[in-house]
Amino acid sequence: MTDDPDLKVSVLRLGHRVDRDKRMTSHLGLTARAFGADQVILSGDDDPTPIETWRSVTSRFGGEFECSYESRPMRWLRSFSKSGGIIVHLTMYGKPWNENIDNIPSEGNVVVVVGGTKVPGELFGLADYNIAVGNQPHSEVAALAVFLNSYLGSQGPEKFSGGSVSVIPSEDGKVLVTNDD
Ligand code: SAM
Repeated sequence: MTDDPDLKVSVLRLGHRVDRDKRMTSHLGLTARAFGADQVILSGDDDPTPIETWRSVTSRFGGEFECSYESRPMRWLRSFSKSGGIIVHLTMYGKPWNENIDNIPSEGNVVVVVGGTKVPGELFGLADYNIAVGNQPHSEVAALAVFLNSYLGSQGPEKFSGGSVSVIPSEDGKVLVTNDD
């Protein structure tokens, strides 16, 4: 979970394509985890590979990070919104993140939606916040990293306890310790 027990941040990956997006989607989920989200939800093609990668990295490097697949993401978002959840849609057509991030609530259930293929137009109306990380096209991974870092701040090692290994920051190279059970 985020350090704040009153805030749960999920990332919804819309429109994953098994033939084109495997690597990008895997990196998106790893970025969600590393930058402090509590959950990633895959939608689009039902591809087990990204979910296996996310679970494997979480088990090895620690932390609590939920991973799931949602076959009807727009229905899921409507229901999430009706139950009081906050939807943040990352889009190059939105409002500048640095001028609007302080308006986004810092408690409750928040889902950050990122696209792969063209997103349904309905999403712009359903979202509580349409947020741009610059108004130029780039990568969903870059947009997510910048947004989460601004929204949640830096993540310390305490966020990633309980894994089978821990990274010890070093100037000299790779230092990885194996944790006891
Ligand atoms: N090919 C698709 C299209 O043209 O509609 C979208 C490709 S884009 C790389 C995929 C996702 O990255 C978008 O849905 C959005 O979530 C995110 N993205 C790209 N540029 C962004 C920006 N400047 N600000 C925020 N999100 C951005």
